This record gives sequence, C-alpha cells and structure tokens, in this order.
Amino acid sequence: MSTEEKPKDYSESPIHLEYFYTAGSATTRFLNQVKEGKLVGQACPKCKAVYVPPRGSCPRCGVATNIEVPLTDKGCIESFTVVHIPIPGNPIVPPYVCAMIRLDGSNISFLHLIQGVDIQEIRIGMRIQAVWKPKEEWTHSLENIKWFAPIDEPDIDVATLRFKES
Ligand SMILES: [Zn+2]
Repeated sequence: MSTEEKPKDYSESPIHLEYFYTAGSATTRFLNQVKEGKLVGQACPKCKAVYVPPRGSCPRCGVATNIEVPLTDKGCIESFTVVHIPIPGNPIVPPYVCAMIRLDGSNISFLHLIQGVDIQEIRIGMRIQAVWKPKEEWTHSLENIKWFAPIDEPDIDVATLRFKES
C-alpha cells in the first residue's frame, strides 16, 4: 500500500459559527453594569448569599436574587490550573494560568486568567485584582477584564470563605 492509499485516521475541518447570546434579566442587569466597569452581584433575600456573575436565583433557596450588591474588582484565587496544551483558535500561548476567582463579598467564583506573575508563584488564597482593558474597548462582557494580577496584600485562608448559613 502506498502512502497515498493509507487510510486516514485524522482530519481537520475548520468550522465558523456565528451566534447570538440572549441573556436573561439577571445576566442583562449584570452585563449592563460590566459595560460601565462595575461588578455588581445579586444577593439572595433569604440566605444572603451573593452571586457574581448572577444567574437570577439562589440554587440553595430557590428564590430570585433581587438584591443588587456592588463589589470591588479585588478578590483571591480559590483554585487554579496551569494550561500547557494550546487550544485551537485561542491566541493565548501556553503555559498560562486559569483560576477560579472569588471576588471579595461574593459566595461563588468564576473562571478568569492570571497574569503579571511567575506561574510558580501563583497559589490558592493569593490576593488579586482585575486589570481592565481601556475603557473605549468595554462591551457587555467579562472580557473587559484582561486578566487578574496579584496585589500586595496577605493571602486569604480559602477555608474561611465557606458559606455559613445565617
Ligand atoms: Zn438563598
């Protein structure tokens, strides 16, 4: 069998998809604030848990999270992973760090990048702050934040961040 006749076990087929994301009312309120450079969580009226990004209801209590809670862009690293494998179409060159970011005052975390520090120095509990894109580039997206970078504050014991029923 010549090399031309060898059966293929791999092929690449680039696909381009264009889609529109329709946010619900809670996410719409959140993203409208993000466009203004503000991070506003939503709190549960029963258990007081604060969600950012908000999803509109408290999964614990099953009620609408109708209380707006302005937050700063500071927090800590709740967990992280070092990415070594390039993702097709992703312009970020490995190795890089994706972390679960817990903003101060929030009871949940979200995924974002950590930059501005040697990977070996990144640790759970490290204090970080958002590094924003220039204001003229802001849209309705958490991509307005380029990444989170360490700040000169003592680490947090993430065990203290566990939600406590009030
Ligand atoms: Zn609740």
